[in-house]
Order: sequence, then structure tokens, then C-alpha cells
Amino acid sequence: MIVWSTIEVSCPICSHRTRLRELGSGFGTGQDSDLLVRMAGKHIIQAEIHTCHKCRFSGYPADFKRTISPAARRRFLEVVSPRLREPPVAPRTTPERPASAGQGKQGAGLSATPLPDVQYYWAYRSAEALALPAVQQGERLLRAYWCLRLPPSSYLPPDVVRALKKAYLTRAIERLREGLAFERDPSWLYLLGELCRRNGNFVLAASHLRRFLEHEGGARYLKLAAVKLLELARKRIDQDLSMEEILYDGAPEPKPLGDGAGGMEADEPGSEEA
Ligand SMILES: [Zn+2]
Repeated sequence: MIVWSTIEVSCPICSHRTRLRELGSGFGTGQDSDLLVRMAGKHIIQAEIHTCHKCRFSGYPADFKRTISPAARRRFLEVVSPRLREPPVAPRTTPERPASAGQGKQGAGLSATPLPDVQYYWAYRSAEALALPAVQQGERLLRAYWCLRLPPSSYLPPDVVRALKKAYLTRAIERLREGLAFERDPSWLYLLGELCRRNGNFVLAASHLRRFLEHEGGARYLKLAAVKLLELARKRIDQDLSMEEILYDGAPEPKPLGDGAGGMEADEPGSEEA
């Protein structure tokens, strides 16, 4: 459950009046291995994203309060906005909403506002057009990826979800790796490692997770999770997991090391113990 109030602003690109939700608070009910905090009902990340219905400029409330130069506005309208008609992968259909989903009146706005994952993808394109830092572009793509496991995006056909997941995750990893080259916060190493594992980039995943484990900082539960995830990366397992599955129920048990285990070591420049 989340709480918000509504204010109206002018779109910084086309001046169309747009309603923004100013968020109060939300309550988490768990966490996935890539740090998405699960919530009951509408998720806070879905409430934080906004799209201008006229020019499709998308972003957080703060993005709608930016001052954007006339030249950048013109460029967005002429070059970027026309391209925001298409999703990153075709074809898209309106998600099948299970009768039991109980989304109620929220469904009414679907035709006017794109699905939250598309809004975040457009927010990434908007951030790119405004030359915002790579980490901010990557964060919008990460949220697009997260939205795929939340209704209504999660009701899209499985093959569409798979294709979108690949598209968002691959670009998120690219942008985050570029932006985080000099980042000192160890949590980013954990997150990048886990995103790479989920995307099947097992060598990169192992490299980031090892660096996280060698780092003196970082939350203890993330260290415990990283040990498990490193084993999964070595086994080339890209399965999506929750923190609870990793820490308590036991992730898919890796086979004991010994019989040439860790099939990926041969691909890596350094040894596991280095
Ligand atoms: Zn606009």
C-alpha cells in the first residue's frame, strides 16, 4: 500500500498539463535477489513514473520540474518523441488480465498510459536525450525490467516478457557498468553481479560477486546471498530467485565442488582463489 498526493505541472518539453503523484510511503513484504522490494498492491516504482500524454516525455516527478533548453526541447520533439511510439521489442499486445487479478479501476487507464515497463523505457530514452548520467539511465532500465514481474506488465504473453526482459536487462547492465566504473558503494557490485547472472553473463557475474565478497563493506545478508549466487553463476544457472529462497529455503543446490566443478573457470582470466 502506498500513499500519495497529486499536483499538476506543465510538461518541460511541450507544456501539456500533466498530473504528478507525490509519494508518501510504501511497505515492503519481501525482496528479490536483484534488490526489488516486493509490495502488496500497486508498487511504489509504478506510482513514481509519469508520462506526458502529448509528447511522451517520461520520468520521475523531478524530471518534470527540470528546466530544459529550447534547443533540447526542439530536438526531443523532432527526433525522440516520434520514436516513442514503438516498444523496444515487437509485437506488444494488451496484457491478458486474469479475472481474479482484482485490479479494478486501475485497468481503465491502460489505454491512455502505456504499461509501467514502457514508461520506464521511455524515461530511459528521455534521460538519454537530456544526457543524464549513465547510472540514472541504467536505473530507469532496471526499473523497466523490475516492472515485468509486477501486474499489469507481468500479464503479457511469456514470450513477450522474455524478449523485453532481455532487452531491458542487457541495456541496464551496459549503462550501469559504464556509470559505475568508479563507484565505491559495494552494494552496486552485488547488484551488477546478480543482474549479470540473471542475464546469463556468468563470467561477468562471478567477477562482480567476487569483488563484492572481497570488499570490506556491504550488508551481511548480501554477503550470504552473494556466496550462493556465485555458486549459481559458476553452474551457469540464471534462474530468478527471491532473497528468501536464497537465504532460507536453499537455492537450487549446487553440486559439490571437485569433479571439475565450476565449468566456467576455463573462460576466466584469473583463478577462483586469486
Ligand atoms: Zn509533453
